[in-house]
Amino acid sequence: MSRRRQIYEGKAKILYEGPEPGTIIQYFKDDATAFNAQKKGTINGKGVINNRISEHVFTRLAHIGIPTHFIRRLNMREQLVRQVEIIPLEVVVRNVAAGSIAKRLGIEEGEMLPHTIIEYYLKDDALGDPMVAEEHIAAFNWAGHDEMQDIAAMAIRVNDFMCGMFAAIGIRLIDFKLEFGRIYDGDYSRVILADEISPDNCRLWDFTTNEKLDKDRFRRDMGGEEEAYQEVARRMGLLNGEDNSPGEVLDMDAHRSRLRTPAPKPKK
Ligand code: 5GP
Repeated sequence: MSRRRQIYEGKAKILYEGPEPGTIIQYFKDDATAFNAQKKGTINGKGVINNRISEHVFTRLAHIGIPTHFIRRLNMREQLVRQVEIIPLEVVVRNVAAGSIAKRLGIEEGEMLPHTIIEYYLKDDALGDPMVAEEHIAAFNWAGHDEMQDIAAMAIRVNDFMCGMFAAIGIRLIDFKLEFGRIYDGDYSRVILADEISPDNCRLWDFTTNEKLDKDRFRRDMGGEEEAYQEVARRMGLLNGEDNSPGEVLDMDAHRSRLRTPAPKPKK
């Protein structure tokens, strides 16, 4: 098996060079951090569940025409994605007041917002990911005007889709965070959805009990985080089925030869 080159290690994921130029392997860890990594821990099995949940969501978003970096899941903890130039913004979409907006504006957690709000934060750990306005984004050229229009339009479509998807399994989508990246085609670039979508970066509450089924259980020392992540996966229909493949590391040579094998011609 070829040795893989590690490109980056983040709080919850490791990125490796992919088997083809322009591809990356995302490895999902069980590590959990909160409050800009001041709180650290692990949630057993989180990486496996987030890999599966994110695959499910990104695949469905692609079906409704959202361009994403996701190519395919490789094994229990890894997925193959397109390499992007990450746009240094965290795009937060909020339907219900919770977390930082509740604190900042003195709104009770759980209060429905008058309408969906999109906020932007600069991805900068040293600065603690400060909230920024579109004025800052334009002035410092973190993203262009057209790119911001695409990002806002995609964020709203993702929100509408995910509100429906989660409502169908008795979960209220309170808020979530997205990240976007650029891919280049000659002189042109376009923005696609990157990173992951999982209970690590969404607030998910049970519709009837308001029980939290997301990373807030870890952030707030509530306990039961493993069970909460499993419950989300179970309701999404992802816990049983064909996905019990062993957590092997990708065999690069086998993967390359599979890519080189032409698809069989259809019979006439
Ligand atoms: P808040 O600003 O209320 O802390 O977070 C809003 C939403 O974005 C929550 O669903 C939260 O999980 C997500 N979010 C914001 N910043 C981050 C981050 O740095 N990492 C992760 N995993 N999620 C984040």
